[in-house]
Amino acid sequence: MTESPPRPRRQRVLLLLAVVVGVVVVVATYGWARAKALDAAGEAGRQRLGLYASTIRNALDRFSYLPATIAIDRDVLELLEHPDPARVDDINRRLERINVKARSAALYLMDASGTTLAASNWNTPTSYVGADYSFRPYFIQVMGGGAGHFFGIGVTTKLPGYFLASAVLDREDRIVGAVVVKIDLEGLEKEWAEANEKVLVTDENAITILASRPEWKYTIDGRLDPPLQAVLNKTQRYGEMAIRPLNVGRRQPLTEALRLTVIDGVPYVVQSEPYPEEGWTIHYLIGWDETLQRVRGTAALAGIAWVAMVLLLLYLRQRRIANRARQEASEELERTVALRTQALSAEIAERQRTERELRGTQDELIHAGKMAALGQMSAAIAHELNQPLAAIQTFIASSRIFLERVDLKTVAANLVMVEDLGNRMAQIIRHLRIFARKSPAERVAVDLSACVERALLLLDAPLRLGQVVVERRLLPGCLVRGDQLRLEQVFVNLIRNALDSLAGAATKRLELEMVRDGDTVVVRVADSGGGIPPEALSRMFEPFFTTKDVGEGLGLGLSLSYAIVADMGGAIHADNRPEGGAVFTITLAADGVMPGN
Ligand code: ADP
Repeated sequence: MTESPPRPRRQRVLLLLAVVVGVVVVVATYGWARAKALDAAGEAGRQRLGLYASTIRNALDRFSYLPATIAIDRDVLELLEHPDPARVDDINRRLERINVKARSAALYLMDASGTTLAASNWNTPTSYVGADYSFRPYFIQVMGGGAGHFFGIGVTTKLPGYFLASAVLDREDRIVGAVVVKIDLEGLEKEWAEANEKVLVTDENAITILASRPEWKYTIDGRLDPPLQAVLNKTQRYGEMAIRPLNVGRRQPLTEALRLTVIDGVPYVVQSEPYPEEGWTIHYLIGWDETLQRVRGTAALAGIAWVAMVLLLLYLRQRRIANRARQEASEELERTVALRTQALSAEIAERQRTERELRGTQDELIHAGKMAALGQMSAAIAHELNQPLAAIQTFIASSRIFLERVDLKTVAANLVMVEDLGNRMAQIIRHLRIFARKSPAERVAVDLSACVERALLLLDAPLRLGQVVVERRLLPGCLVRGDQLRLEQVFVNLIRNALDSLAGAATKRLELEMVRDGDTVVVRVADSGGGIPPEALSRMFEPFFTTKDVGEGLGLGLSLSYAIVADMGGAIHADNRPEGGAVFTITLAADGVMPGN
């Protein structure tokens, strides 16, 4: 389930692989796009070249009938046979009309010597009438019996055109003259330029005669050799135009049909097709830079696509790893929480069980304590009340006898004794009742010595029984702030412990001493007993700590006393005396002295 995190080395190898594949993708796309672009260029060129050839053909064919039609006109032949001014004028005007209608550049009639007899432009400054064009190839062709056609720049007008000539035959079919139409091809060039096409037409001498760009016109790809220059001079084919060499740089074949040619520093893809009727060649050029730019764009796009794909893959992979880590972390957390919850539940159950057990033990202890206290109390009460009761019975019995003797004086004295004893019993019971009552802690001024006295009174019987010598050095009227009944209980506990300790002692002495020290009152309860056992010294104030036999001590007396004194803001501590026995010291805040003491 867990996959080890990718090591840096593996990552580096993957990155290198991605770069290498990226480069391969870019190079391959470049090659593919280049081939594709060349295919497209070849296809476009083929179509264009076909189109241009047919537009040239159309432009020329439109006029082919014109010189032939005029040549068979009888008036034309008559003018050639009898060139008088009236006939010239007539033919001039007819040629002018036809030229306007046919929209040709010029229309003219030449005699057998090559002199122009009549022309459509007879009334313009550049009129052909009277001019000798015998050197023109089309004239020579026609006089030789062929069809005359020729591209050249007008000798008179200086305007380029295509010349188409037809022979005029006399009745014996001899060639006596020629009718010539000059066709303007500049319209085609304008169309190409406007369509932003790059087209060249070269003639059989490889001289550019038509071009979509004027600067390419009348240039030659290569050098003009002297014999050709001589011919050109003779025919005045290009008029006074100087033929310049075309500024061609690098050439490189691209495919069978296409080649790369740099013209005027700009590389072009060139495709050529012959125009056989005239011995011309049409060349179609496509800017190589734009093509290359598109190719480069495609390759760059492929590169970007590859980088995007790699990034996407990286992102997906990163996300998968992060998701897995998150999932693992959350599973781990769940596991930890589950374990902790389980442990806590077990702990809680254990605590609850312990608490139940403890409470059970406490209940048992309290119950046992109550029973033991009840037993002790019962014994004490029985002992305390038994003596006066026995005395009362004795006094009543003796009073009955004295009553029979009518000794009323003794009876009266007995009754006083009985009353005393009754009062004493009532006092004991009242104390017991006060002691038993569970009253909330009060905070009133209490006479501390009175509390000690009352505790002594409460334990008067066992003290007398144990033959204990009680020494008091008290400060009557010295007040403290607290609860009188609870303070009495403290002293009862301390005196009872002292009594227990004195049980087996040789000297039985109990000392109760009060000392005033500034704002505090110190009470010392000391005995001459066996002293506190070392193991008890540190633990005697703990609840239920006792060194006494079962049924004799509950181990609650000192802890209760400690709690009462602490509750009043005082302190209690125990010690063994150097001369033997234990001493308990209680320190309380003094609350003044009762007036009159
Ligand atoms: P109990 O008296 O029921 O044992 P206490 O809390 O009153 O419970 O006393 C605890 C223990 O302190 C006694 O068991 C005893 O060992 C020791 N002790 C208390 N008072 C004295 C004393 N005056 N002399 C010697 N030991 C004492």
